[in-house]
Amino acid sequence: MRPISHLADRDDAIAYAAFHTFVSPAMRAAARVPLRRARHAGRACLAPTGDGWCAECEETVDDLLMESSAKLRRALGGEMPKTRAGQPVREMVLVCEHLTSADARNEDAATWAMKLRRAEGGDEPWLRAAWAQLVHYPLLHLEERTRRADAVRRGASARPDRDLRQAAWAAPLRGDPAALELLIVLVFRVRRRVPDPFHVPDDLRERHRLTRTEASRRLGTALVALRAANPGFFAANIGEPVTGHAAKPPVDPQDSITTVVEQARARATLTRLLTARADEPMRRAARRRSYRHLIAAICALGTGRRAAPVAMAVRELGVTPTQAARMVRRLAILVAAAGLEWTDQAVEAEPVGAGAL
Ligand SMILES: [Zn+2]
Ligand SMILES: [Zn+2]
Repeated sequence: MRPISHLADRDDAIAYAAFHTFVSPAMRAAARVPLRRARHAGRACLAPTGDGWCAECEETVDDLLMESSAKLRRALGGEMPKTRAGQPVREMVLVCEHLTSADARNEDAATWAMKLRRAEGGDEPWLRAAWAQLVHYPLLHLEERTRRADAVRRGASARPDRDLRQAAWAAPLRGDPAALELLIVLVFRVRRRVPDPFHVPDDLRERHRLTRTEASRRLGTALVALRAANPGFFAANIGEPVTGHAAKPPVDPQDSITTVVEQARARATLTRLLTARADEPMRRAARRRSYRHLIAAICALGTGRRAAPVAMAVRELGVTPTQAARMVRRLAILVAAAGLEWTDQAVEAEPVGAGAL
């Protein structure tokens, strides 16, 4: 048995071992979800082999345990944390009193550890205080803090919104306030590792009274301008692949910049091809319907289904087979740049406007 009184032992090694026994299970339980969200798109964090988490998350938890332990050590040493009014924090006083009490010498740290995991609403006052001081407060905003720390470690900006709104190099981007906001939201979506960061959220689009086409176009233009204004910022904040994390082979930043810009442009073009306007003449609406069929057929081919887009283009658009082949090739390049999955979804999405497709 490791008595809970060891947390107050003069020997740092003994004290830290006891602290780890007592706090670590509760700390891991509380950190699990925020770390998953920050680093694994909400999915489980797994060690490469055996139990535990990935190296980054293990490191984060170890750091948090060290910080929390140091805070307790300072309090036990008489450096009690103070409230804003200058009073010693009562919860911490309670914790220190219990750890240094006569009872503590006969109490098992591991037994208390299991109770600490559930202590949030428990009825043992010192344990509830320990949970708040040693687990809860040290983990406040862990998800955001982790995202920011990871982004900074990758060389990304800690405050991309501030940089884009204020930095001198970003001045050319501020001419179009709507586009600037689209760009800022995009940076945060990339950072949150959402599956399709280039999708402009509907509320944002509506706030600026932009159609989907117009939003994609402005975002594409803003991306090109950002890349020109500050390639380093672009590479660190946008040009990184948005899935997975941890040790990846470094990609040539120029490659990923090109890919992202090409992708944004291709998506904007396809959106324009696929989106009907309410006041569109019949003939153009029919043409757009044909484009939608063609793009769907190219997606079908891309995912191994049967389709004959060239014959379809000849039939639906009345062009020659040579023209049809050229058109299909151009569309296929766009689809490849925009991403097959993205295009497939765009084709299936509800058409906008009255010109039914
Ligand atoms: Zn992890
Ligand atoms: Zn550990």
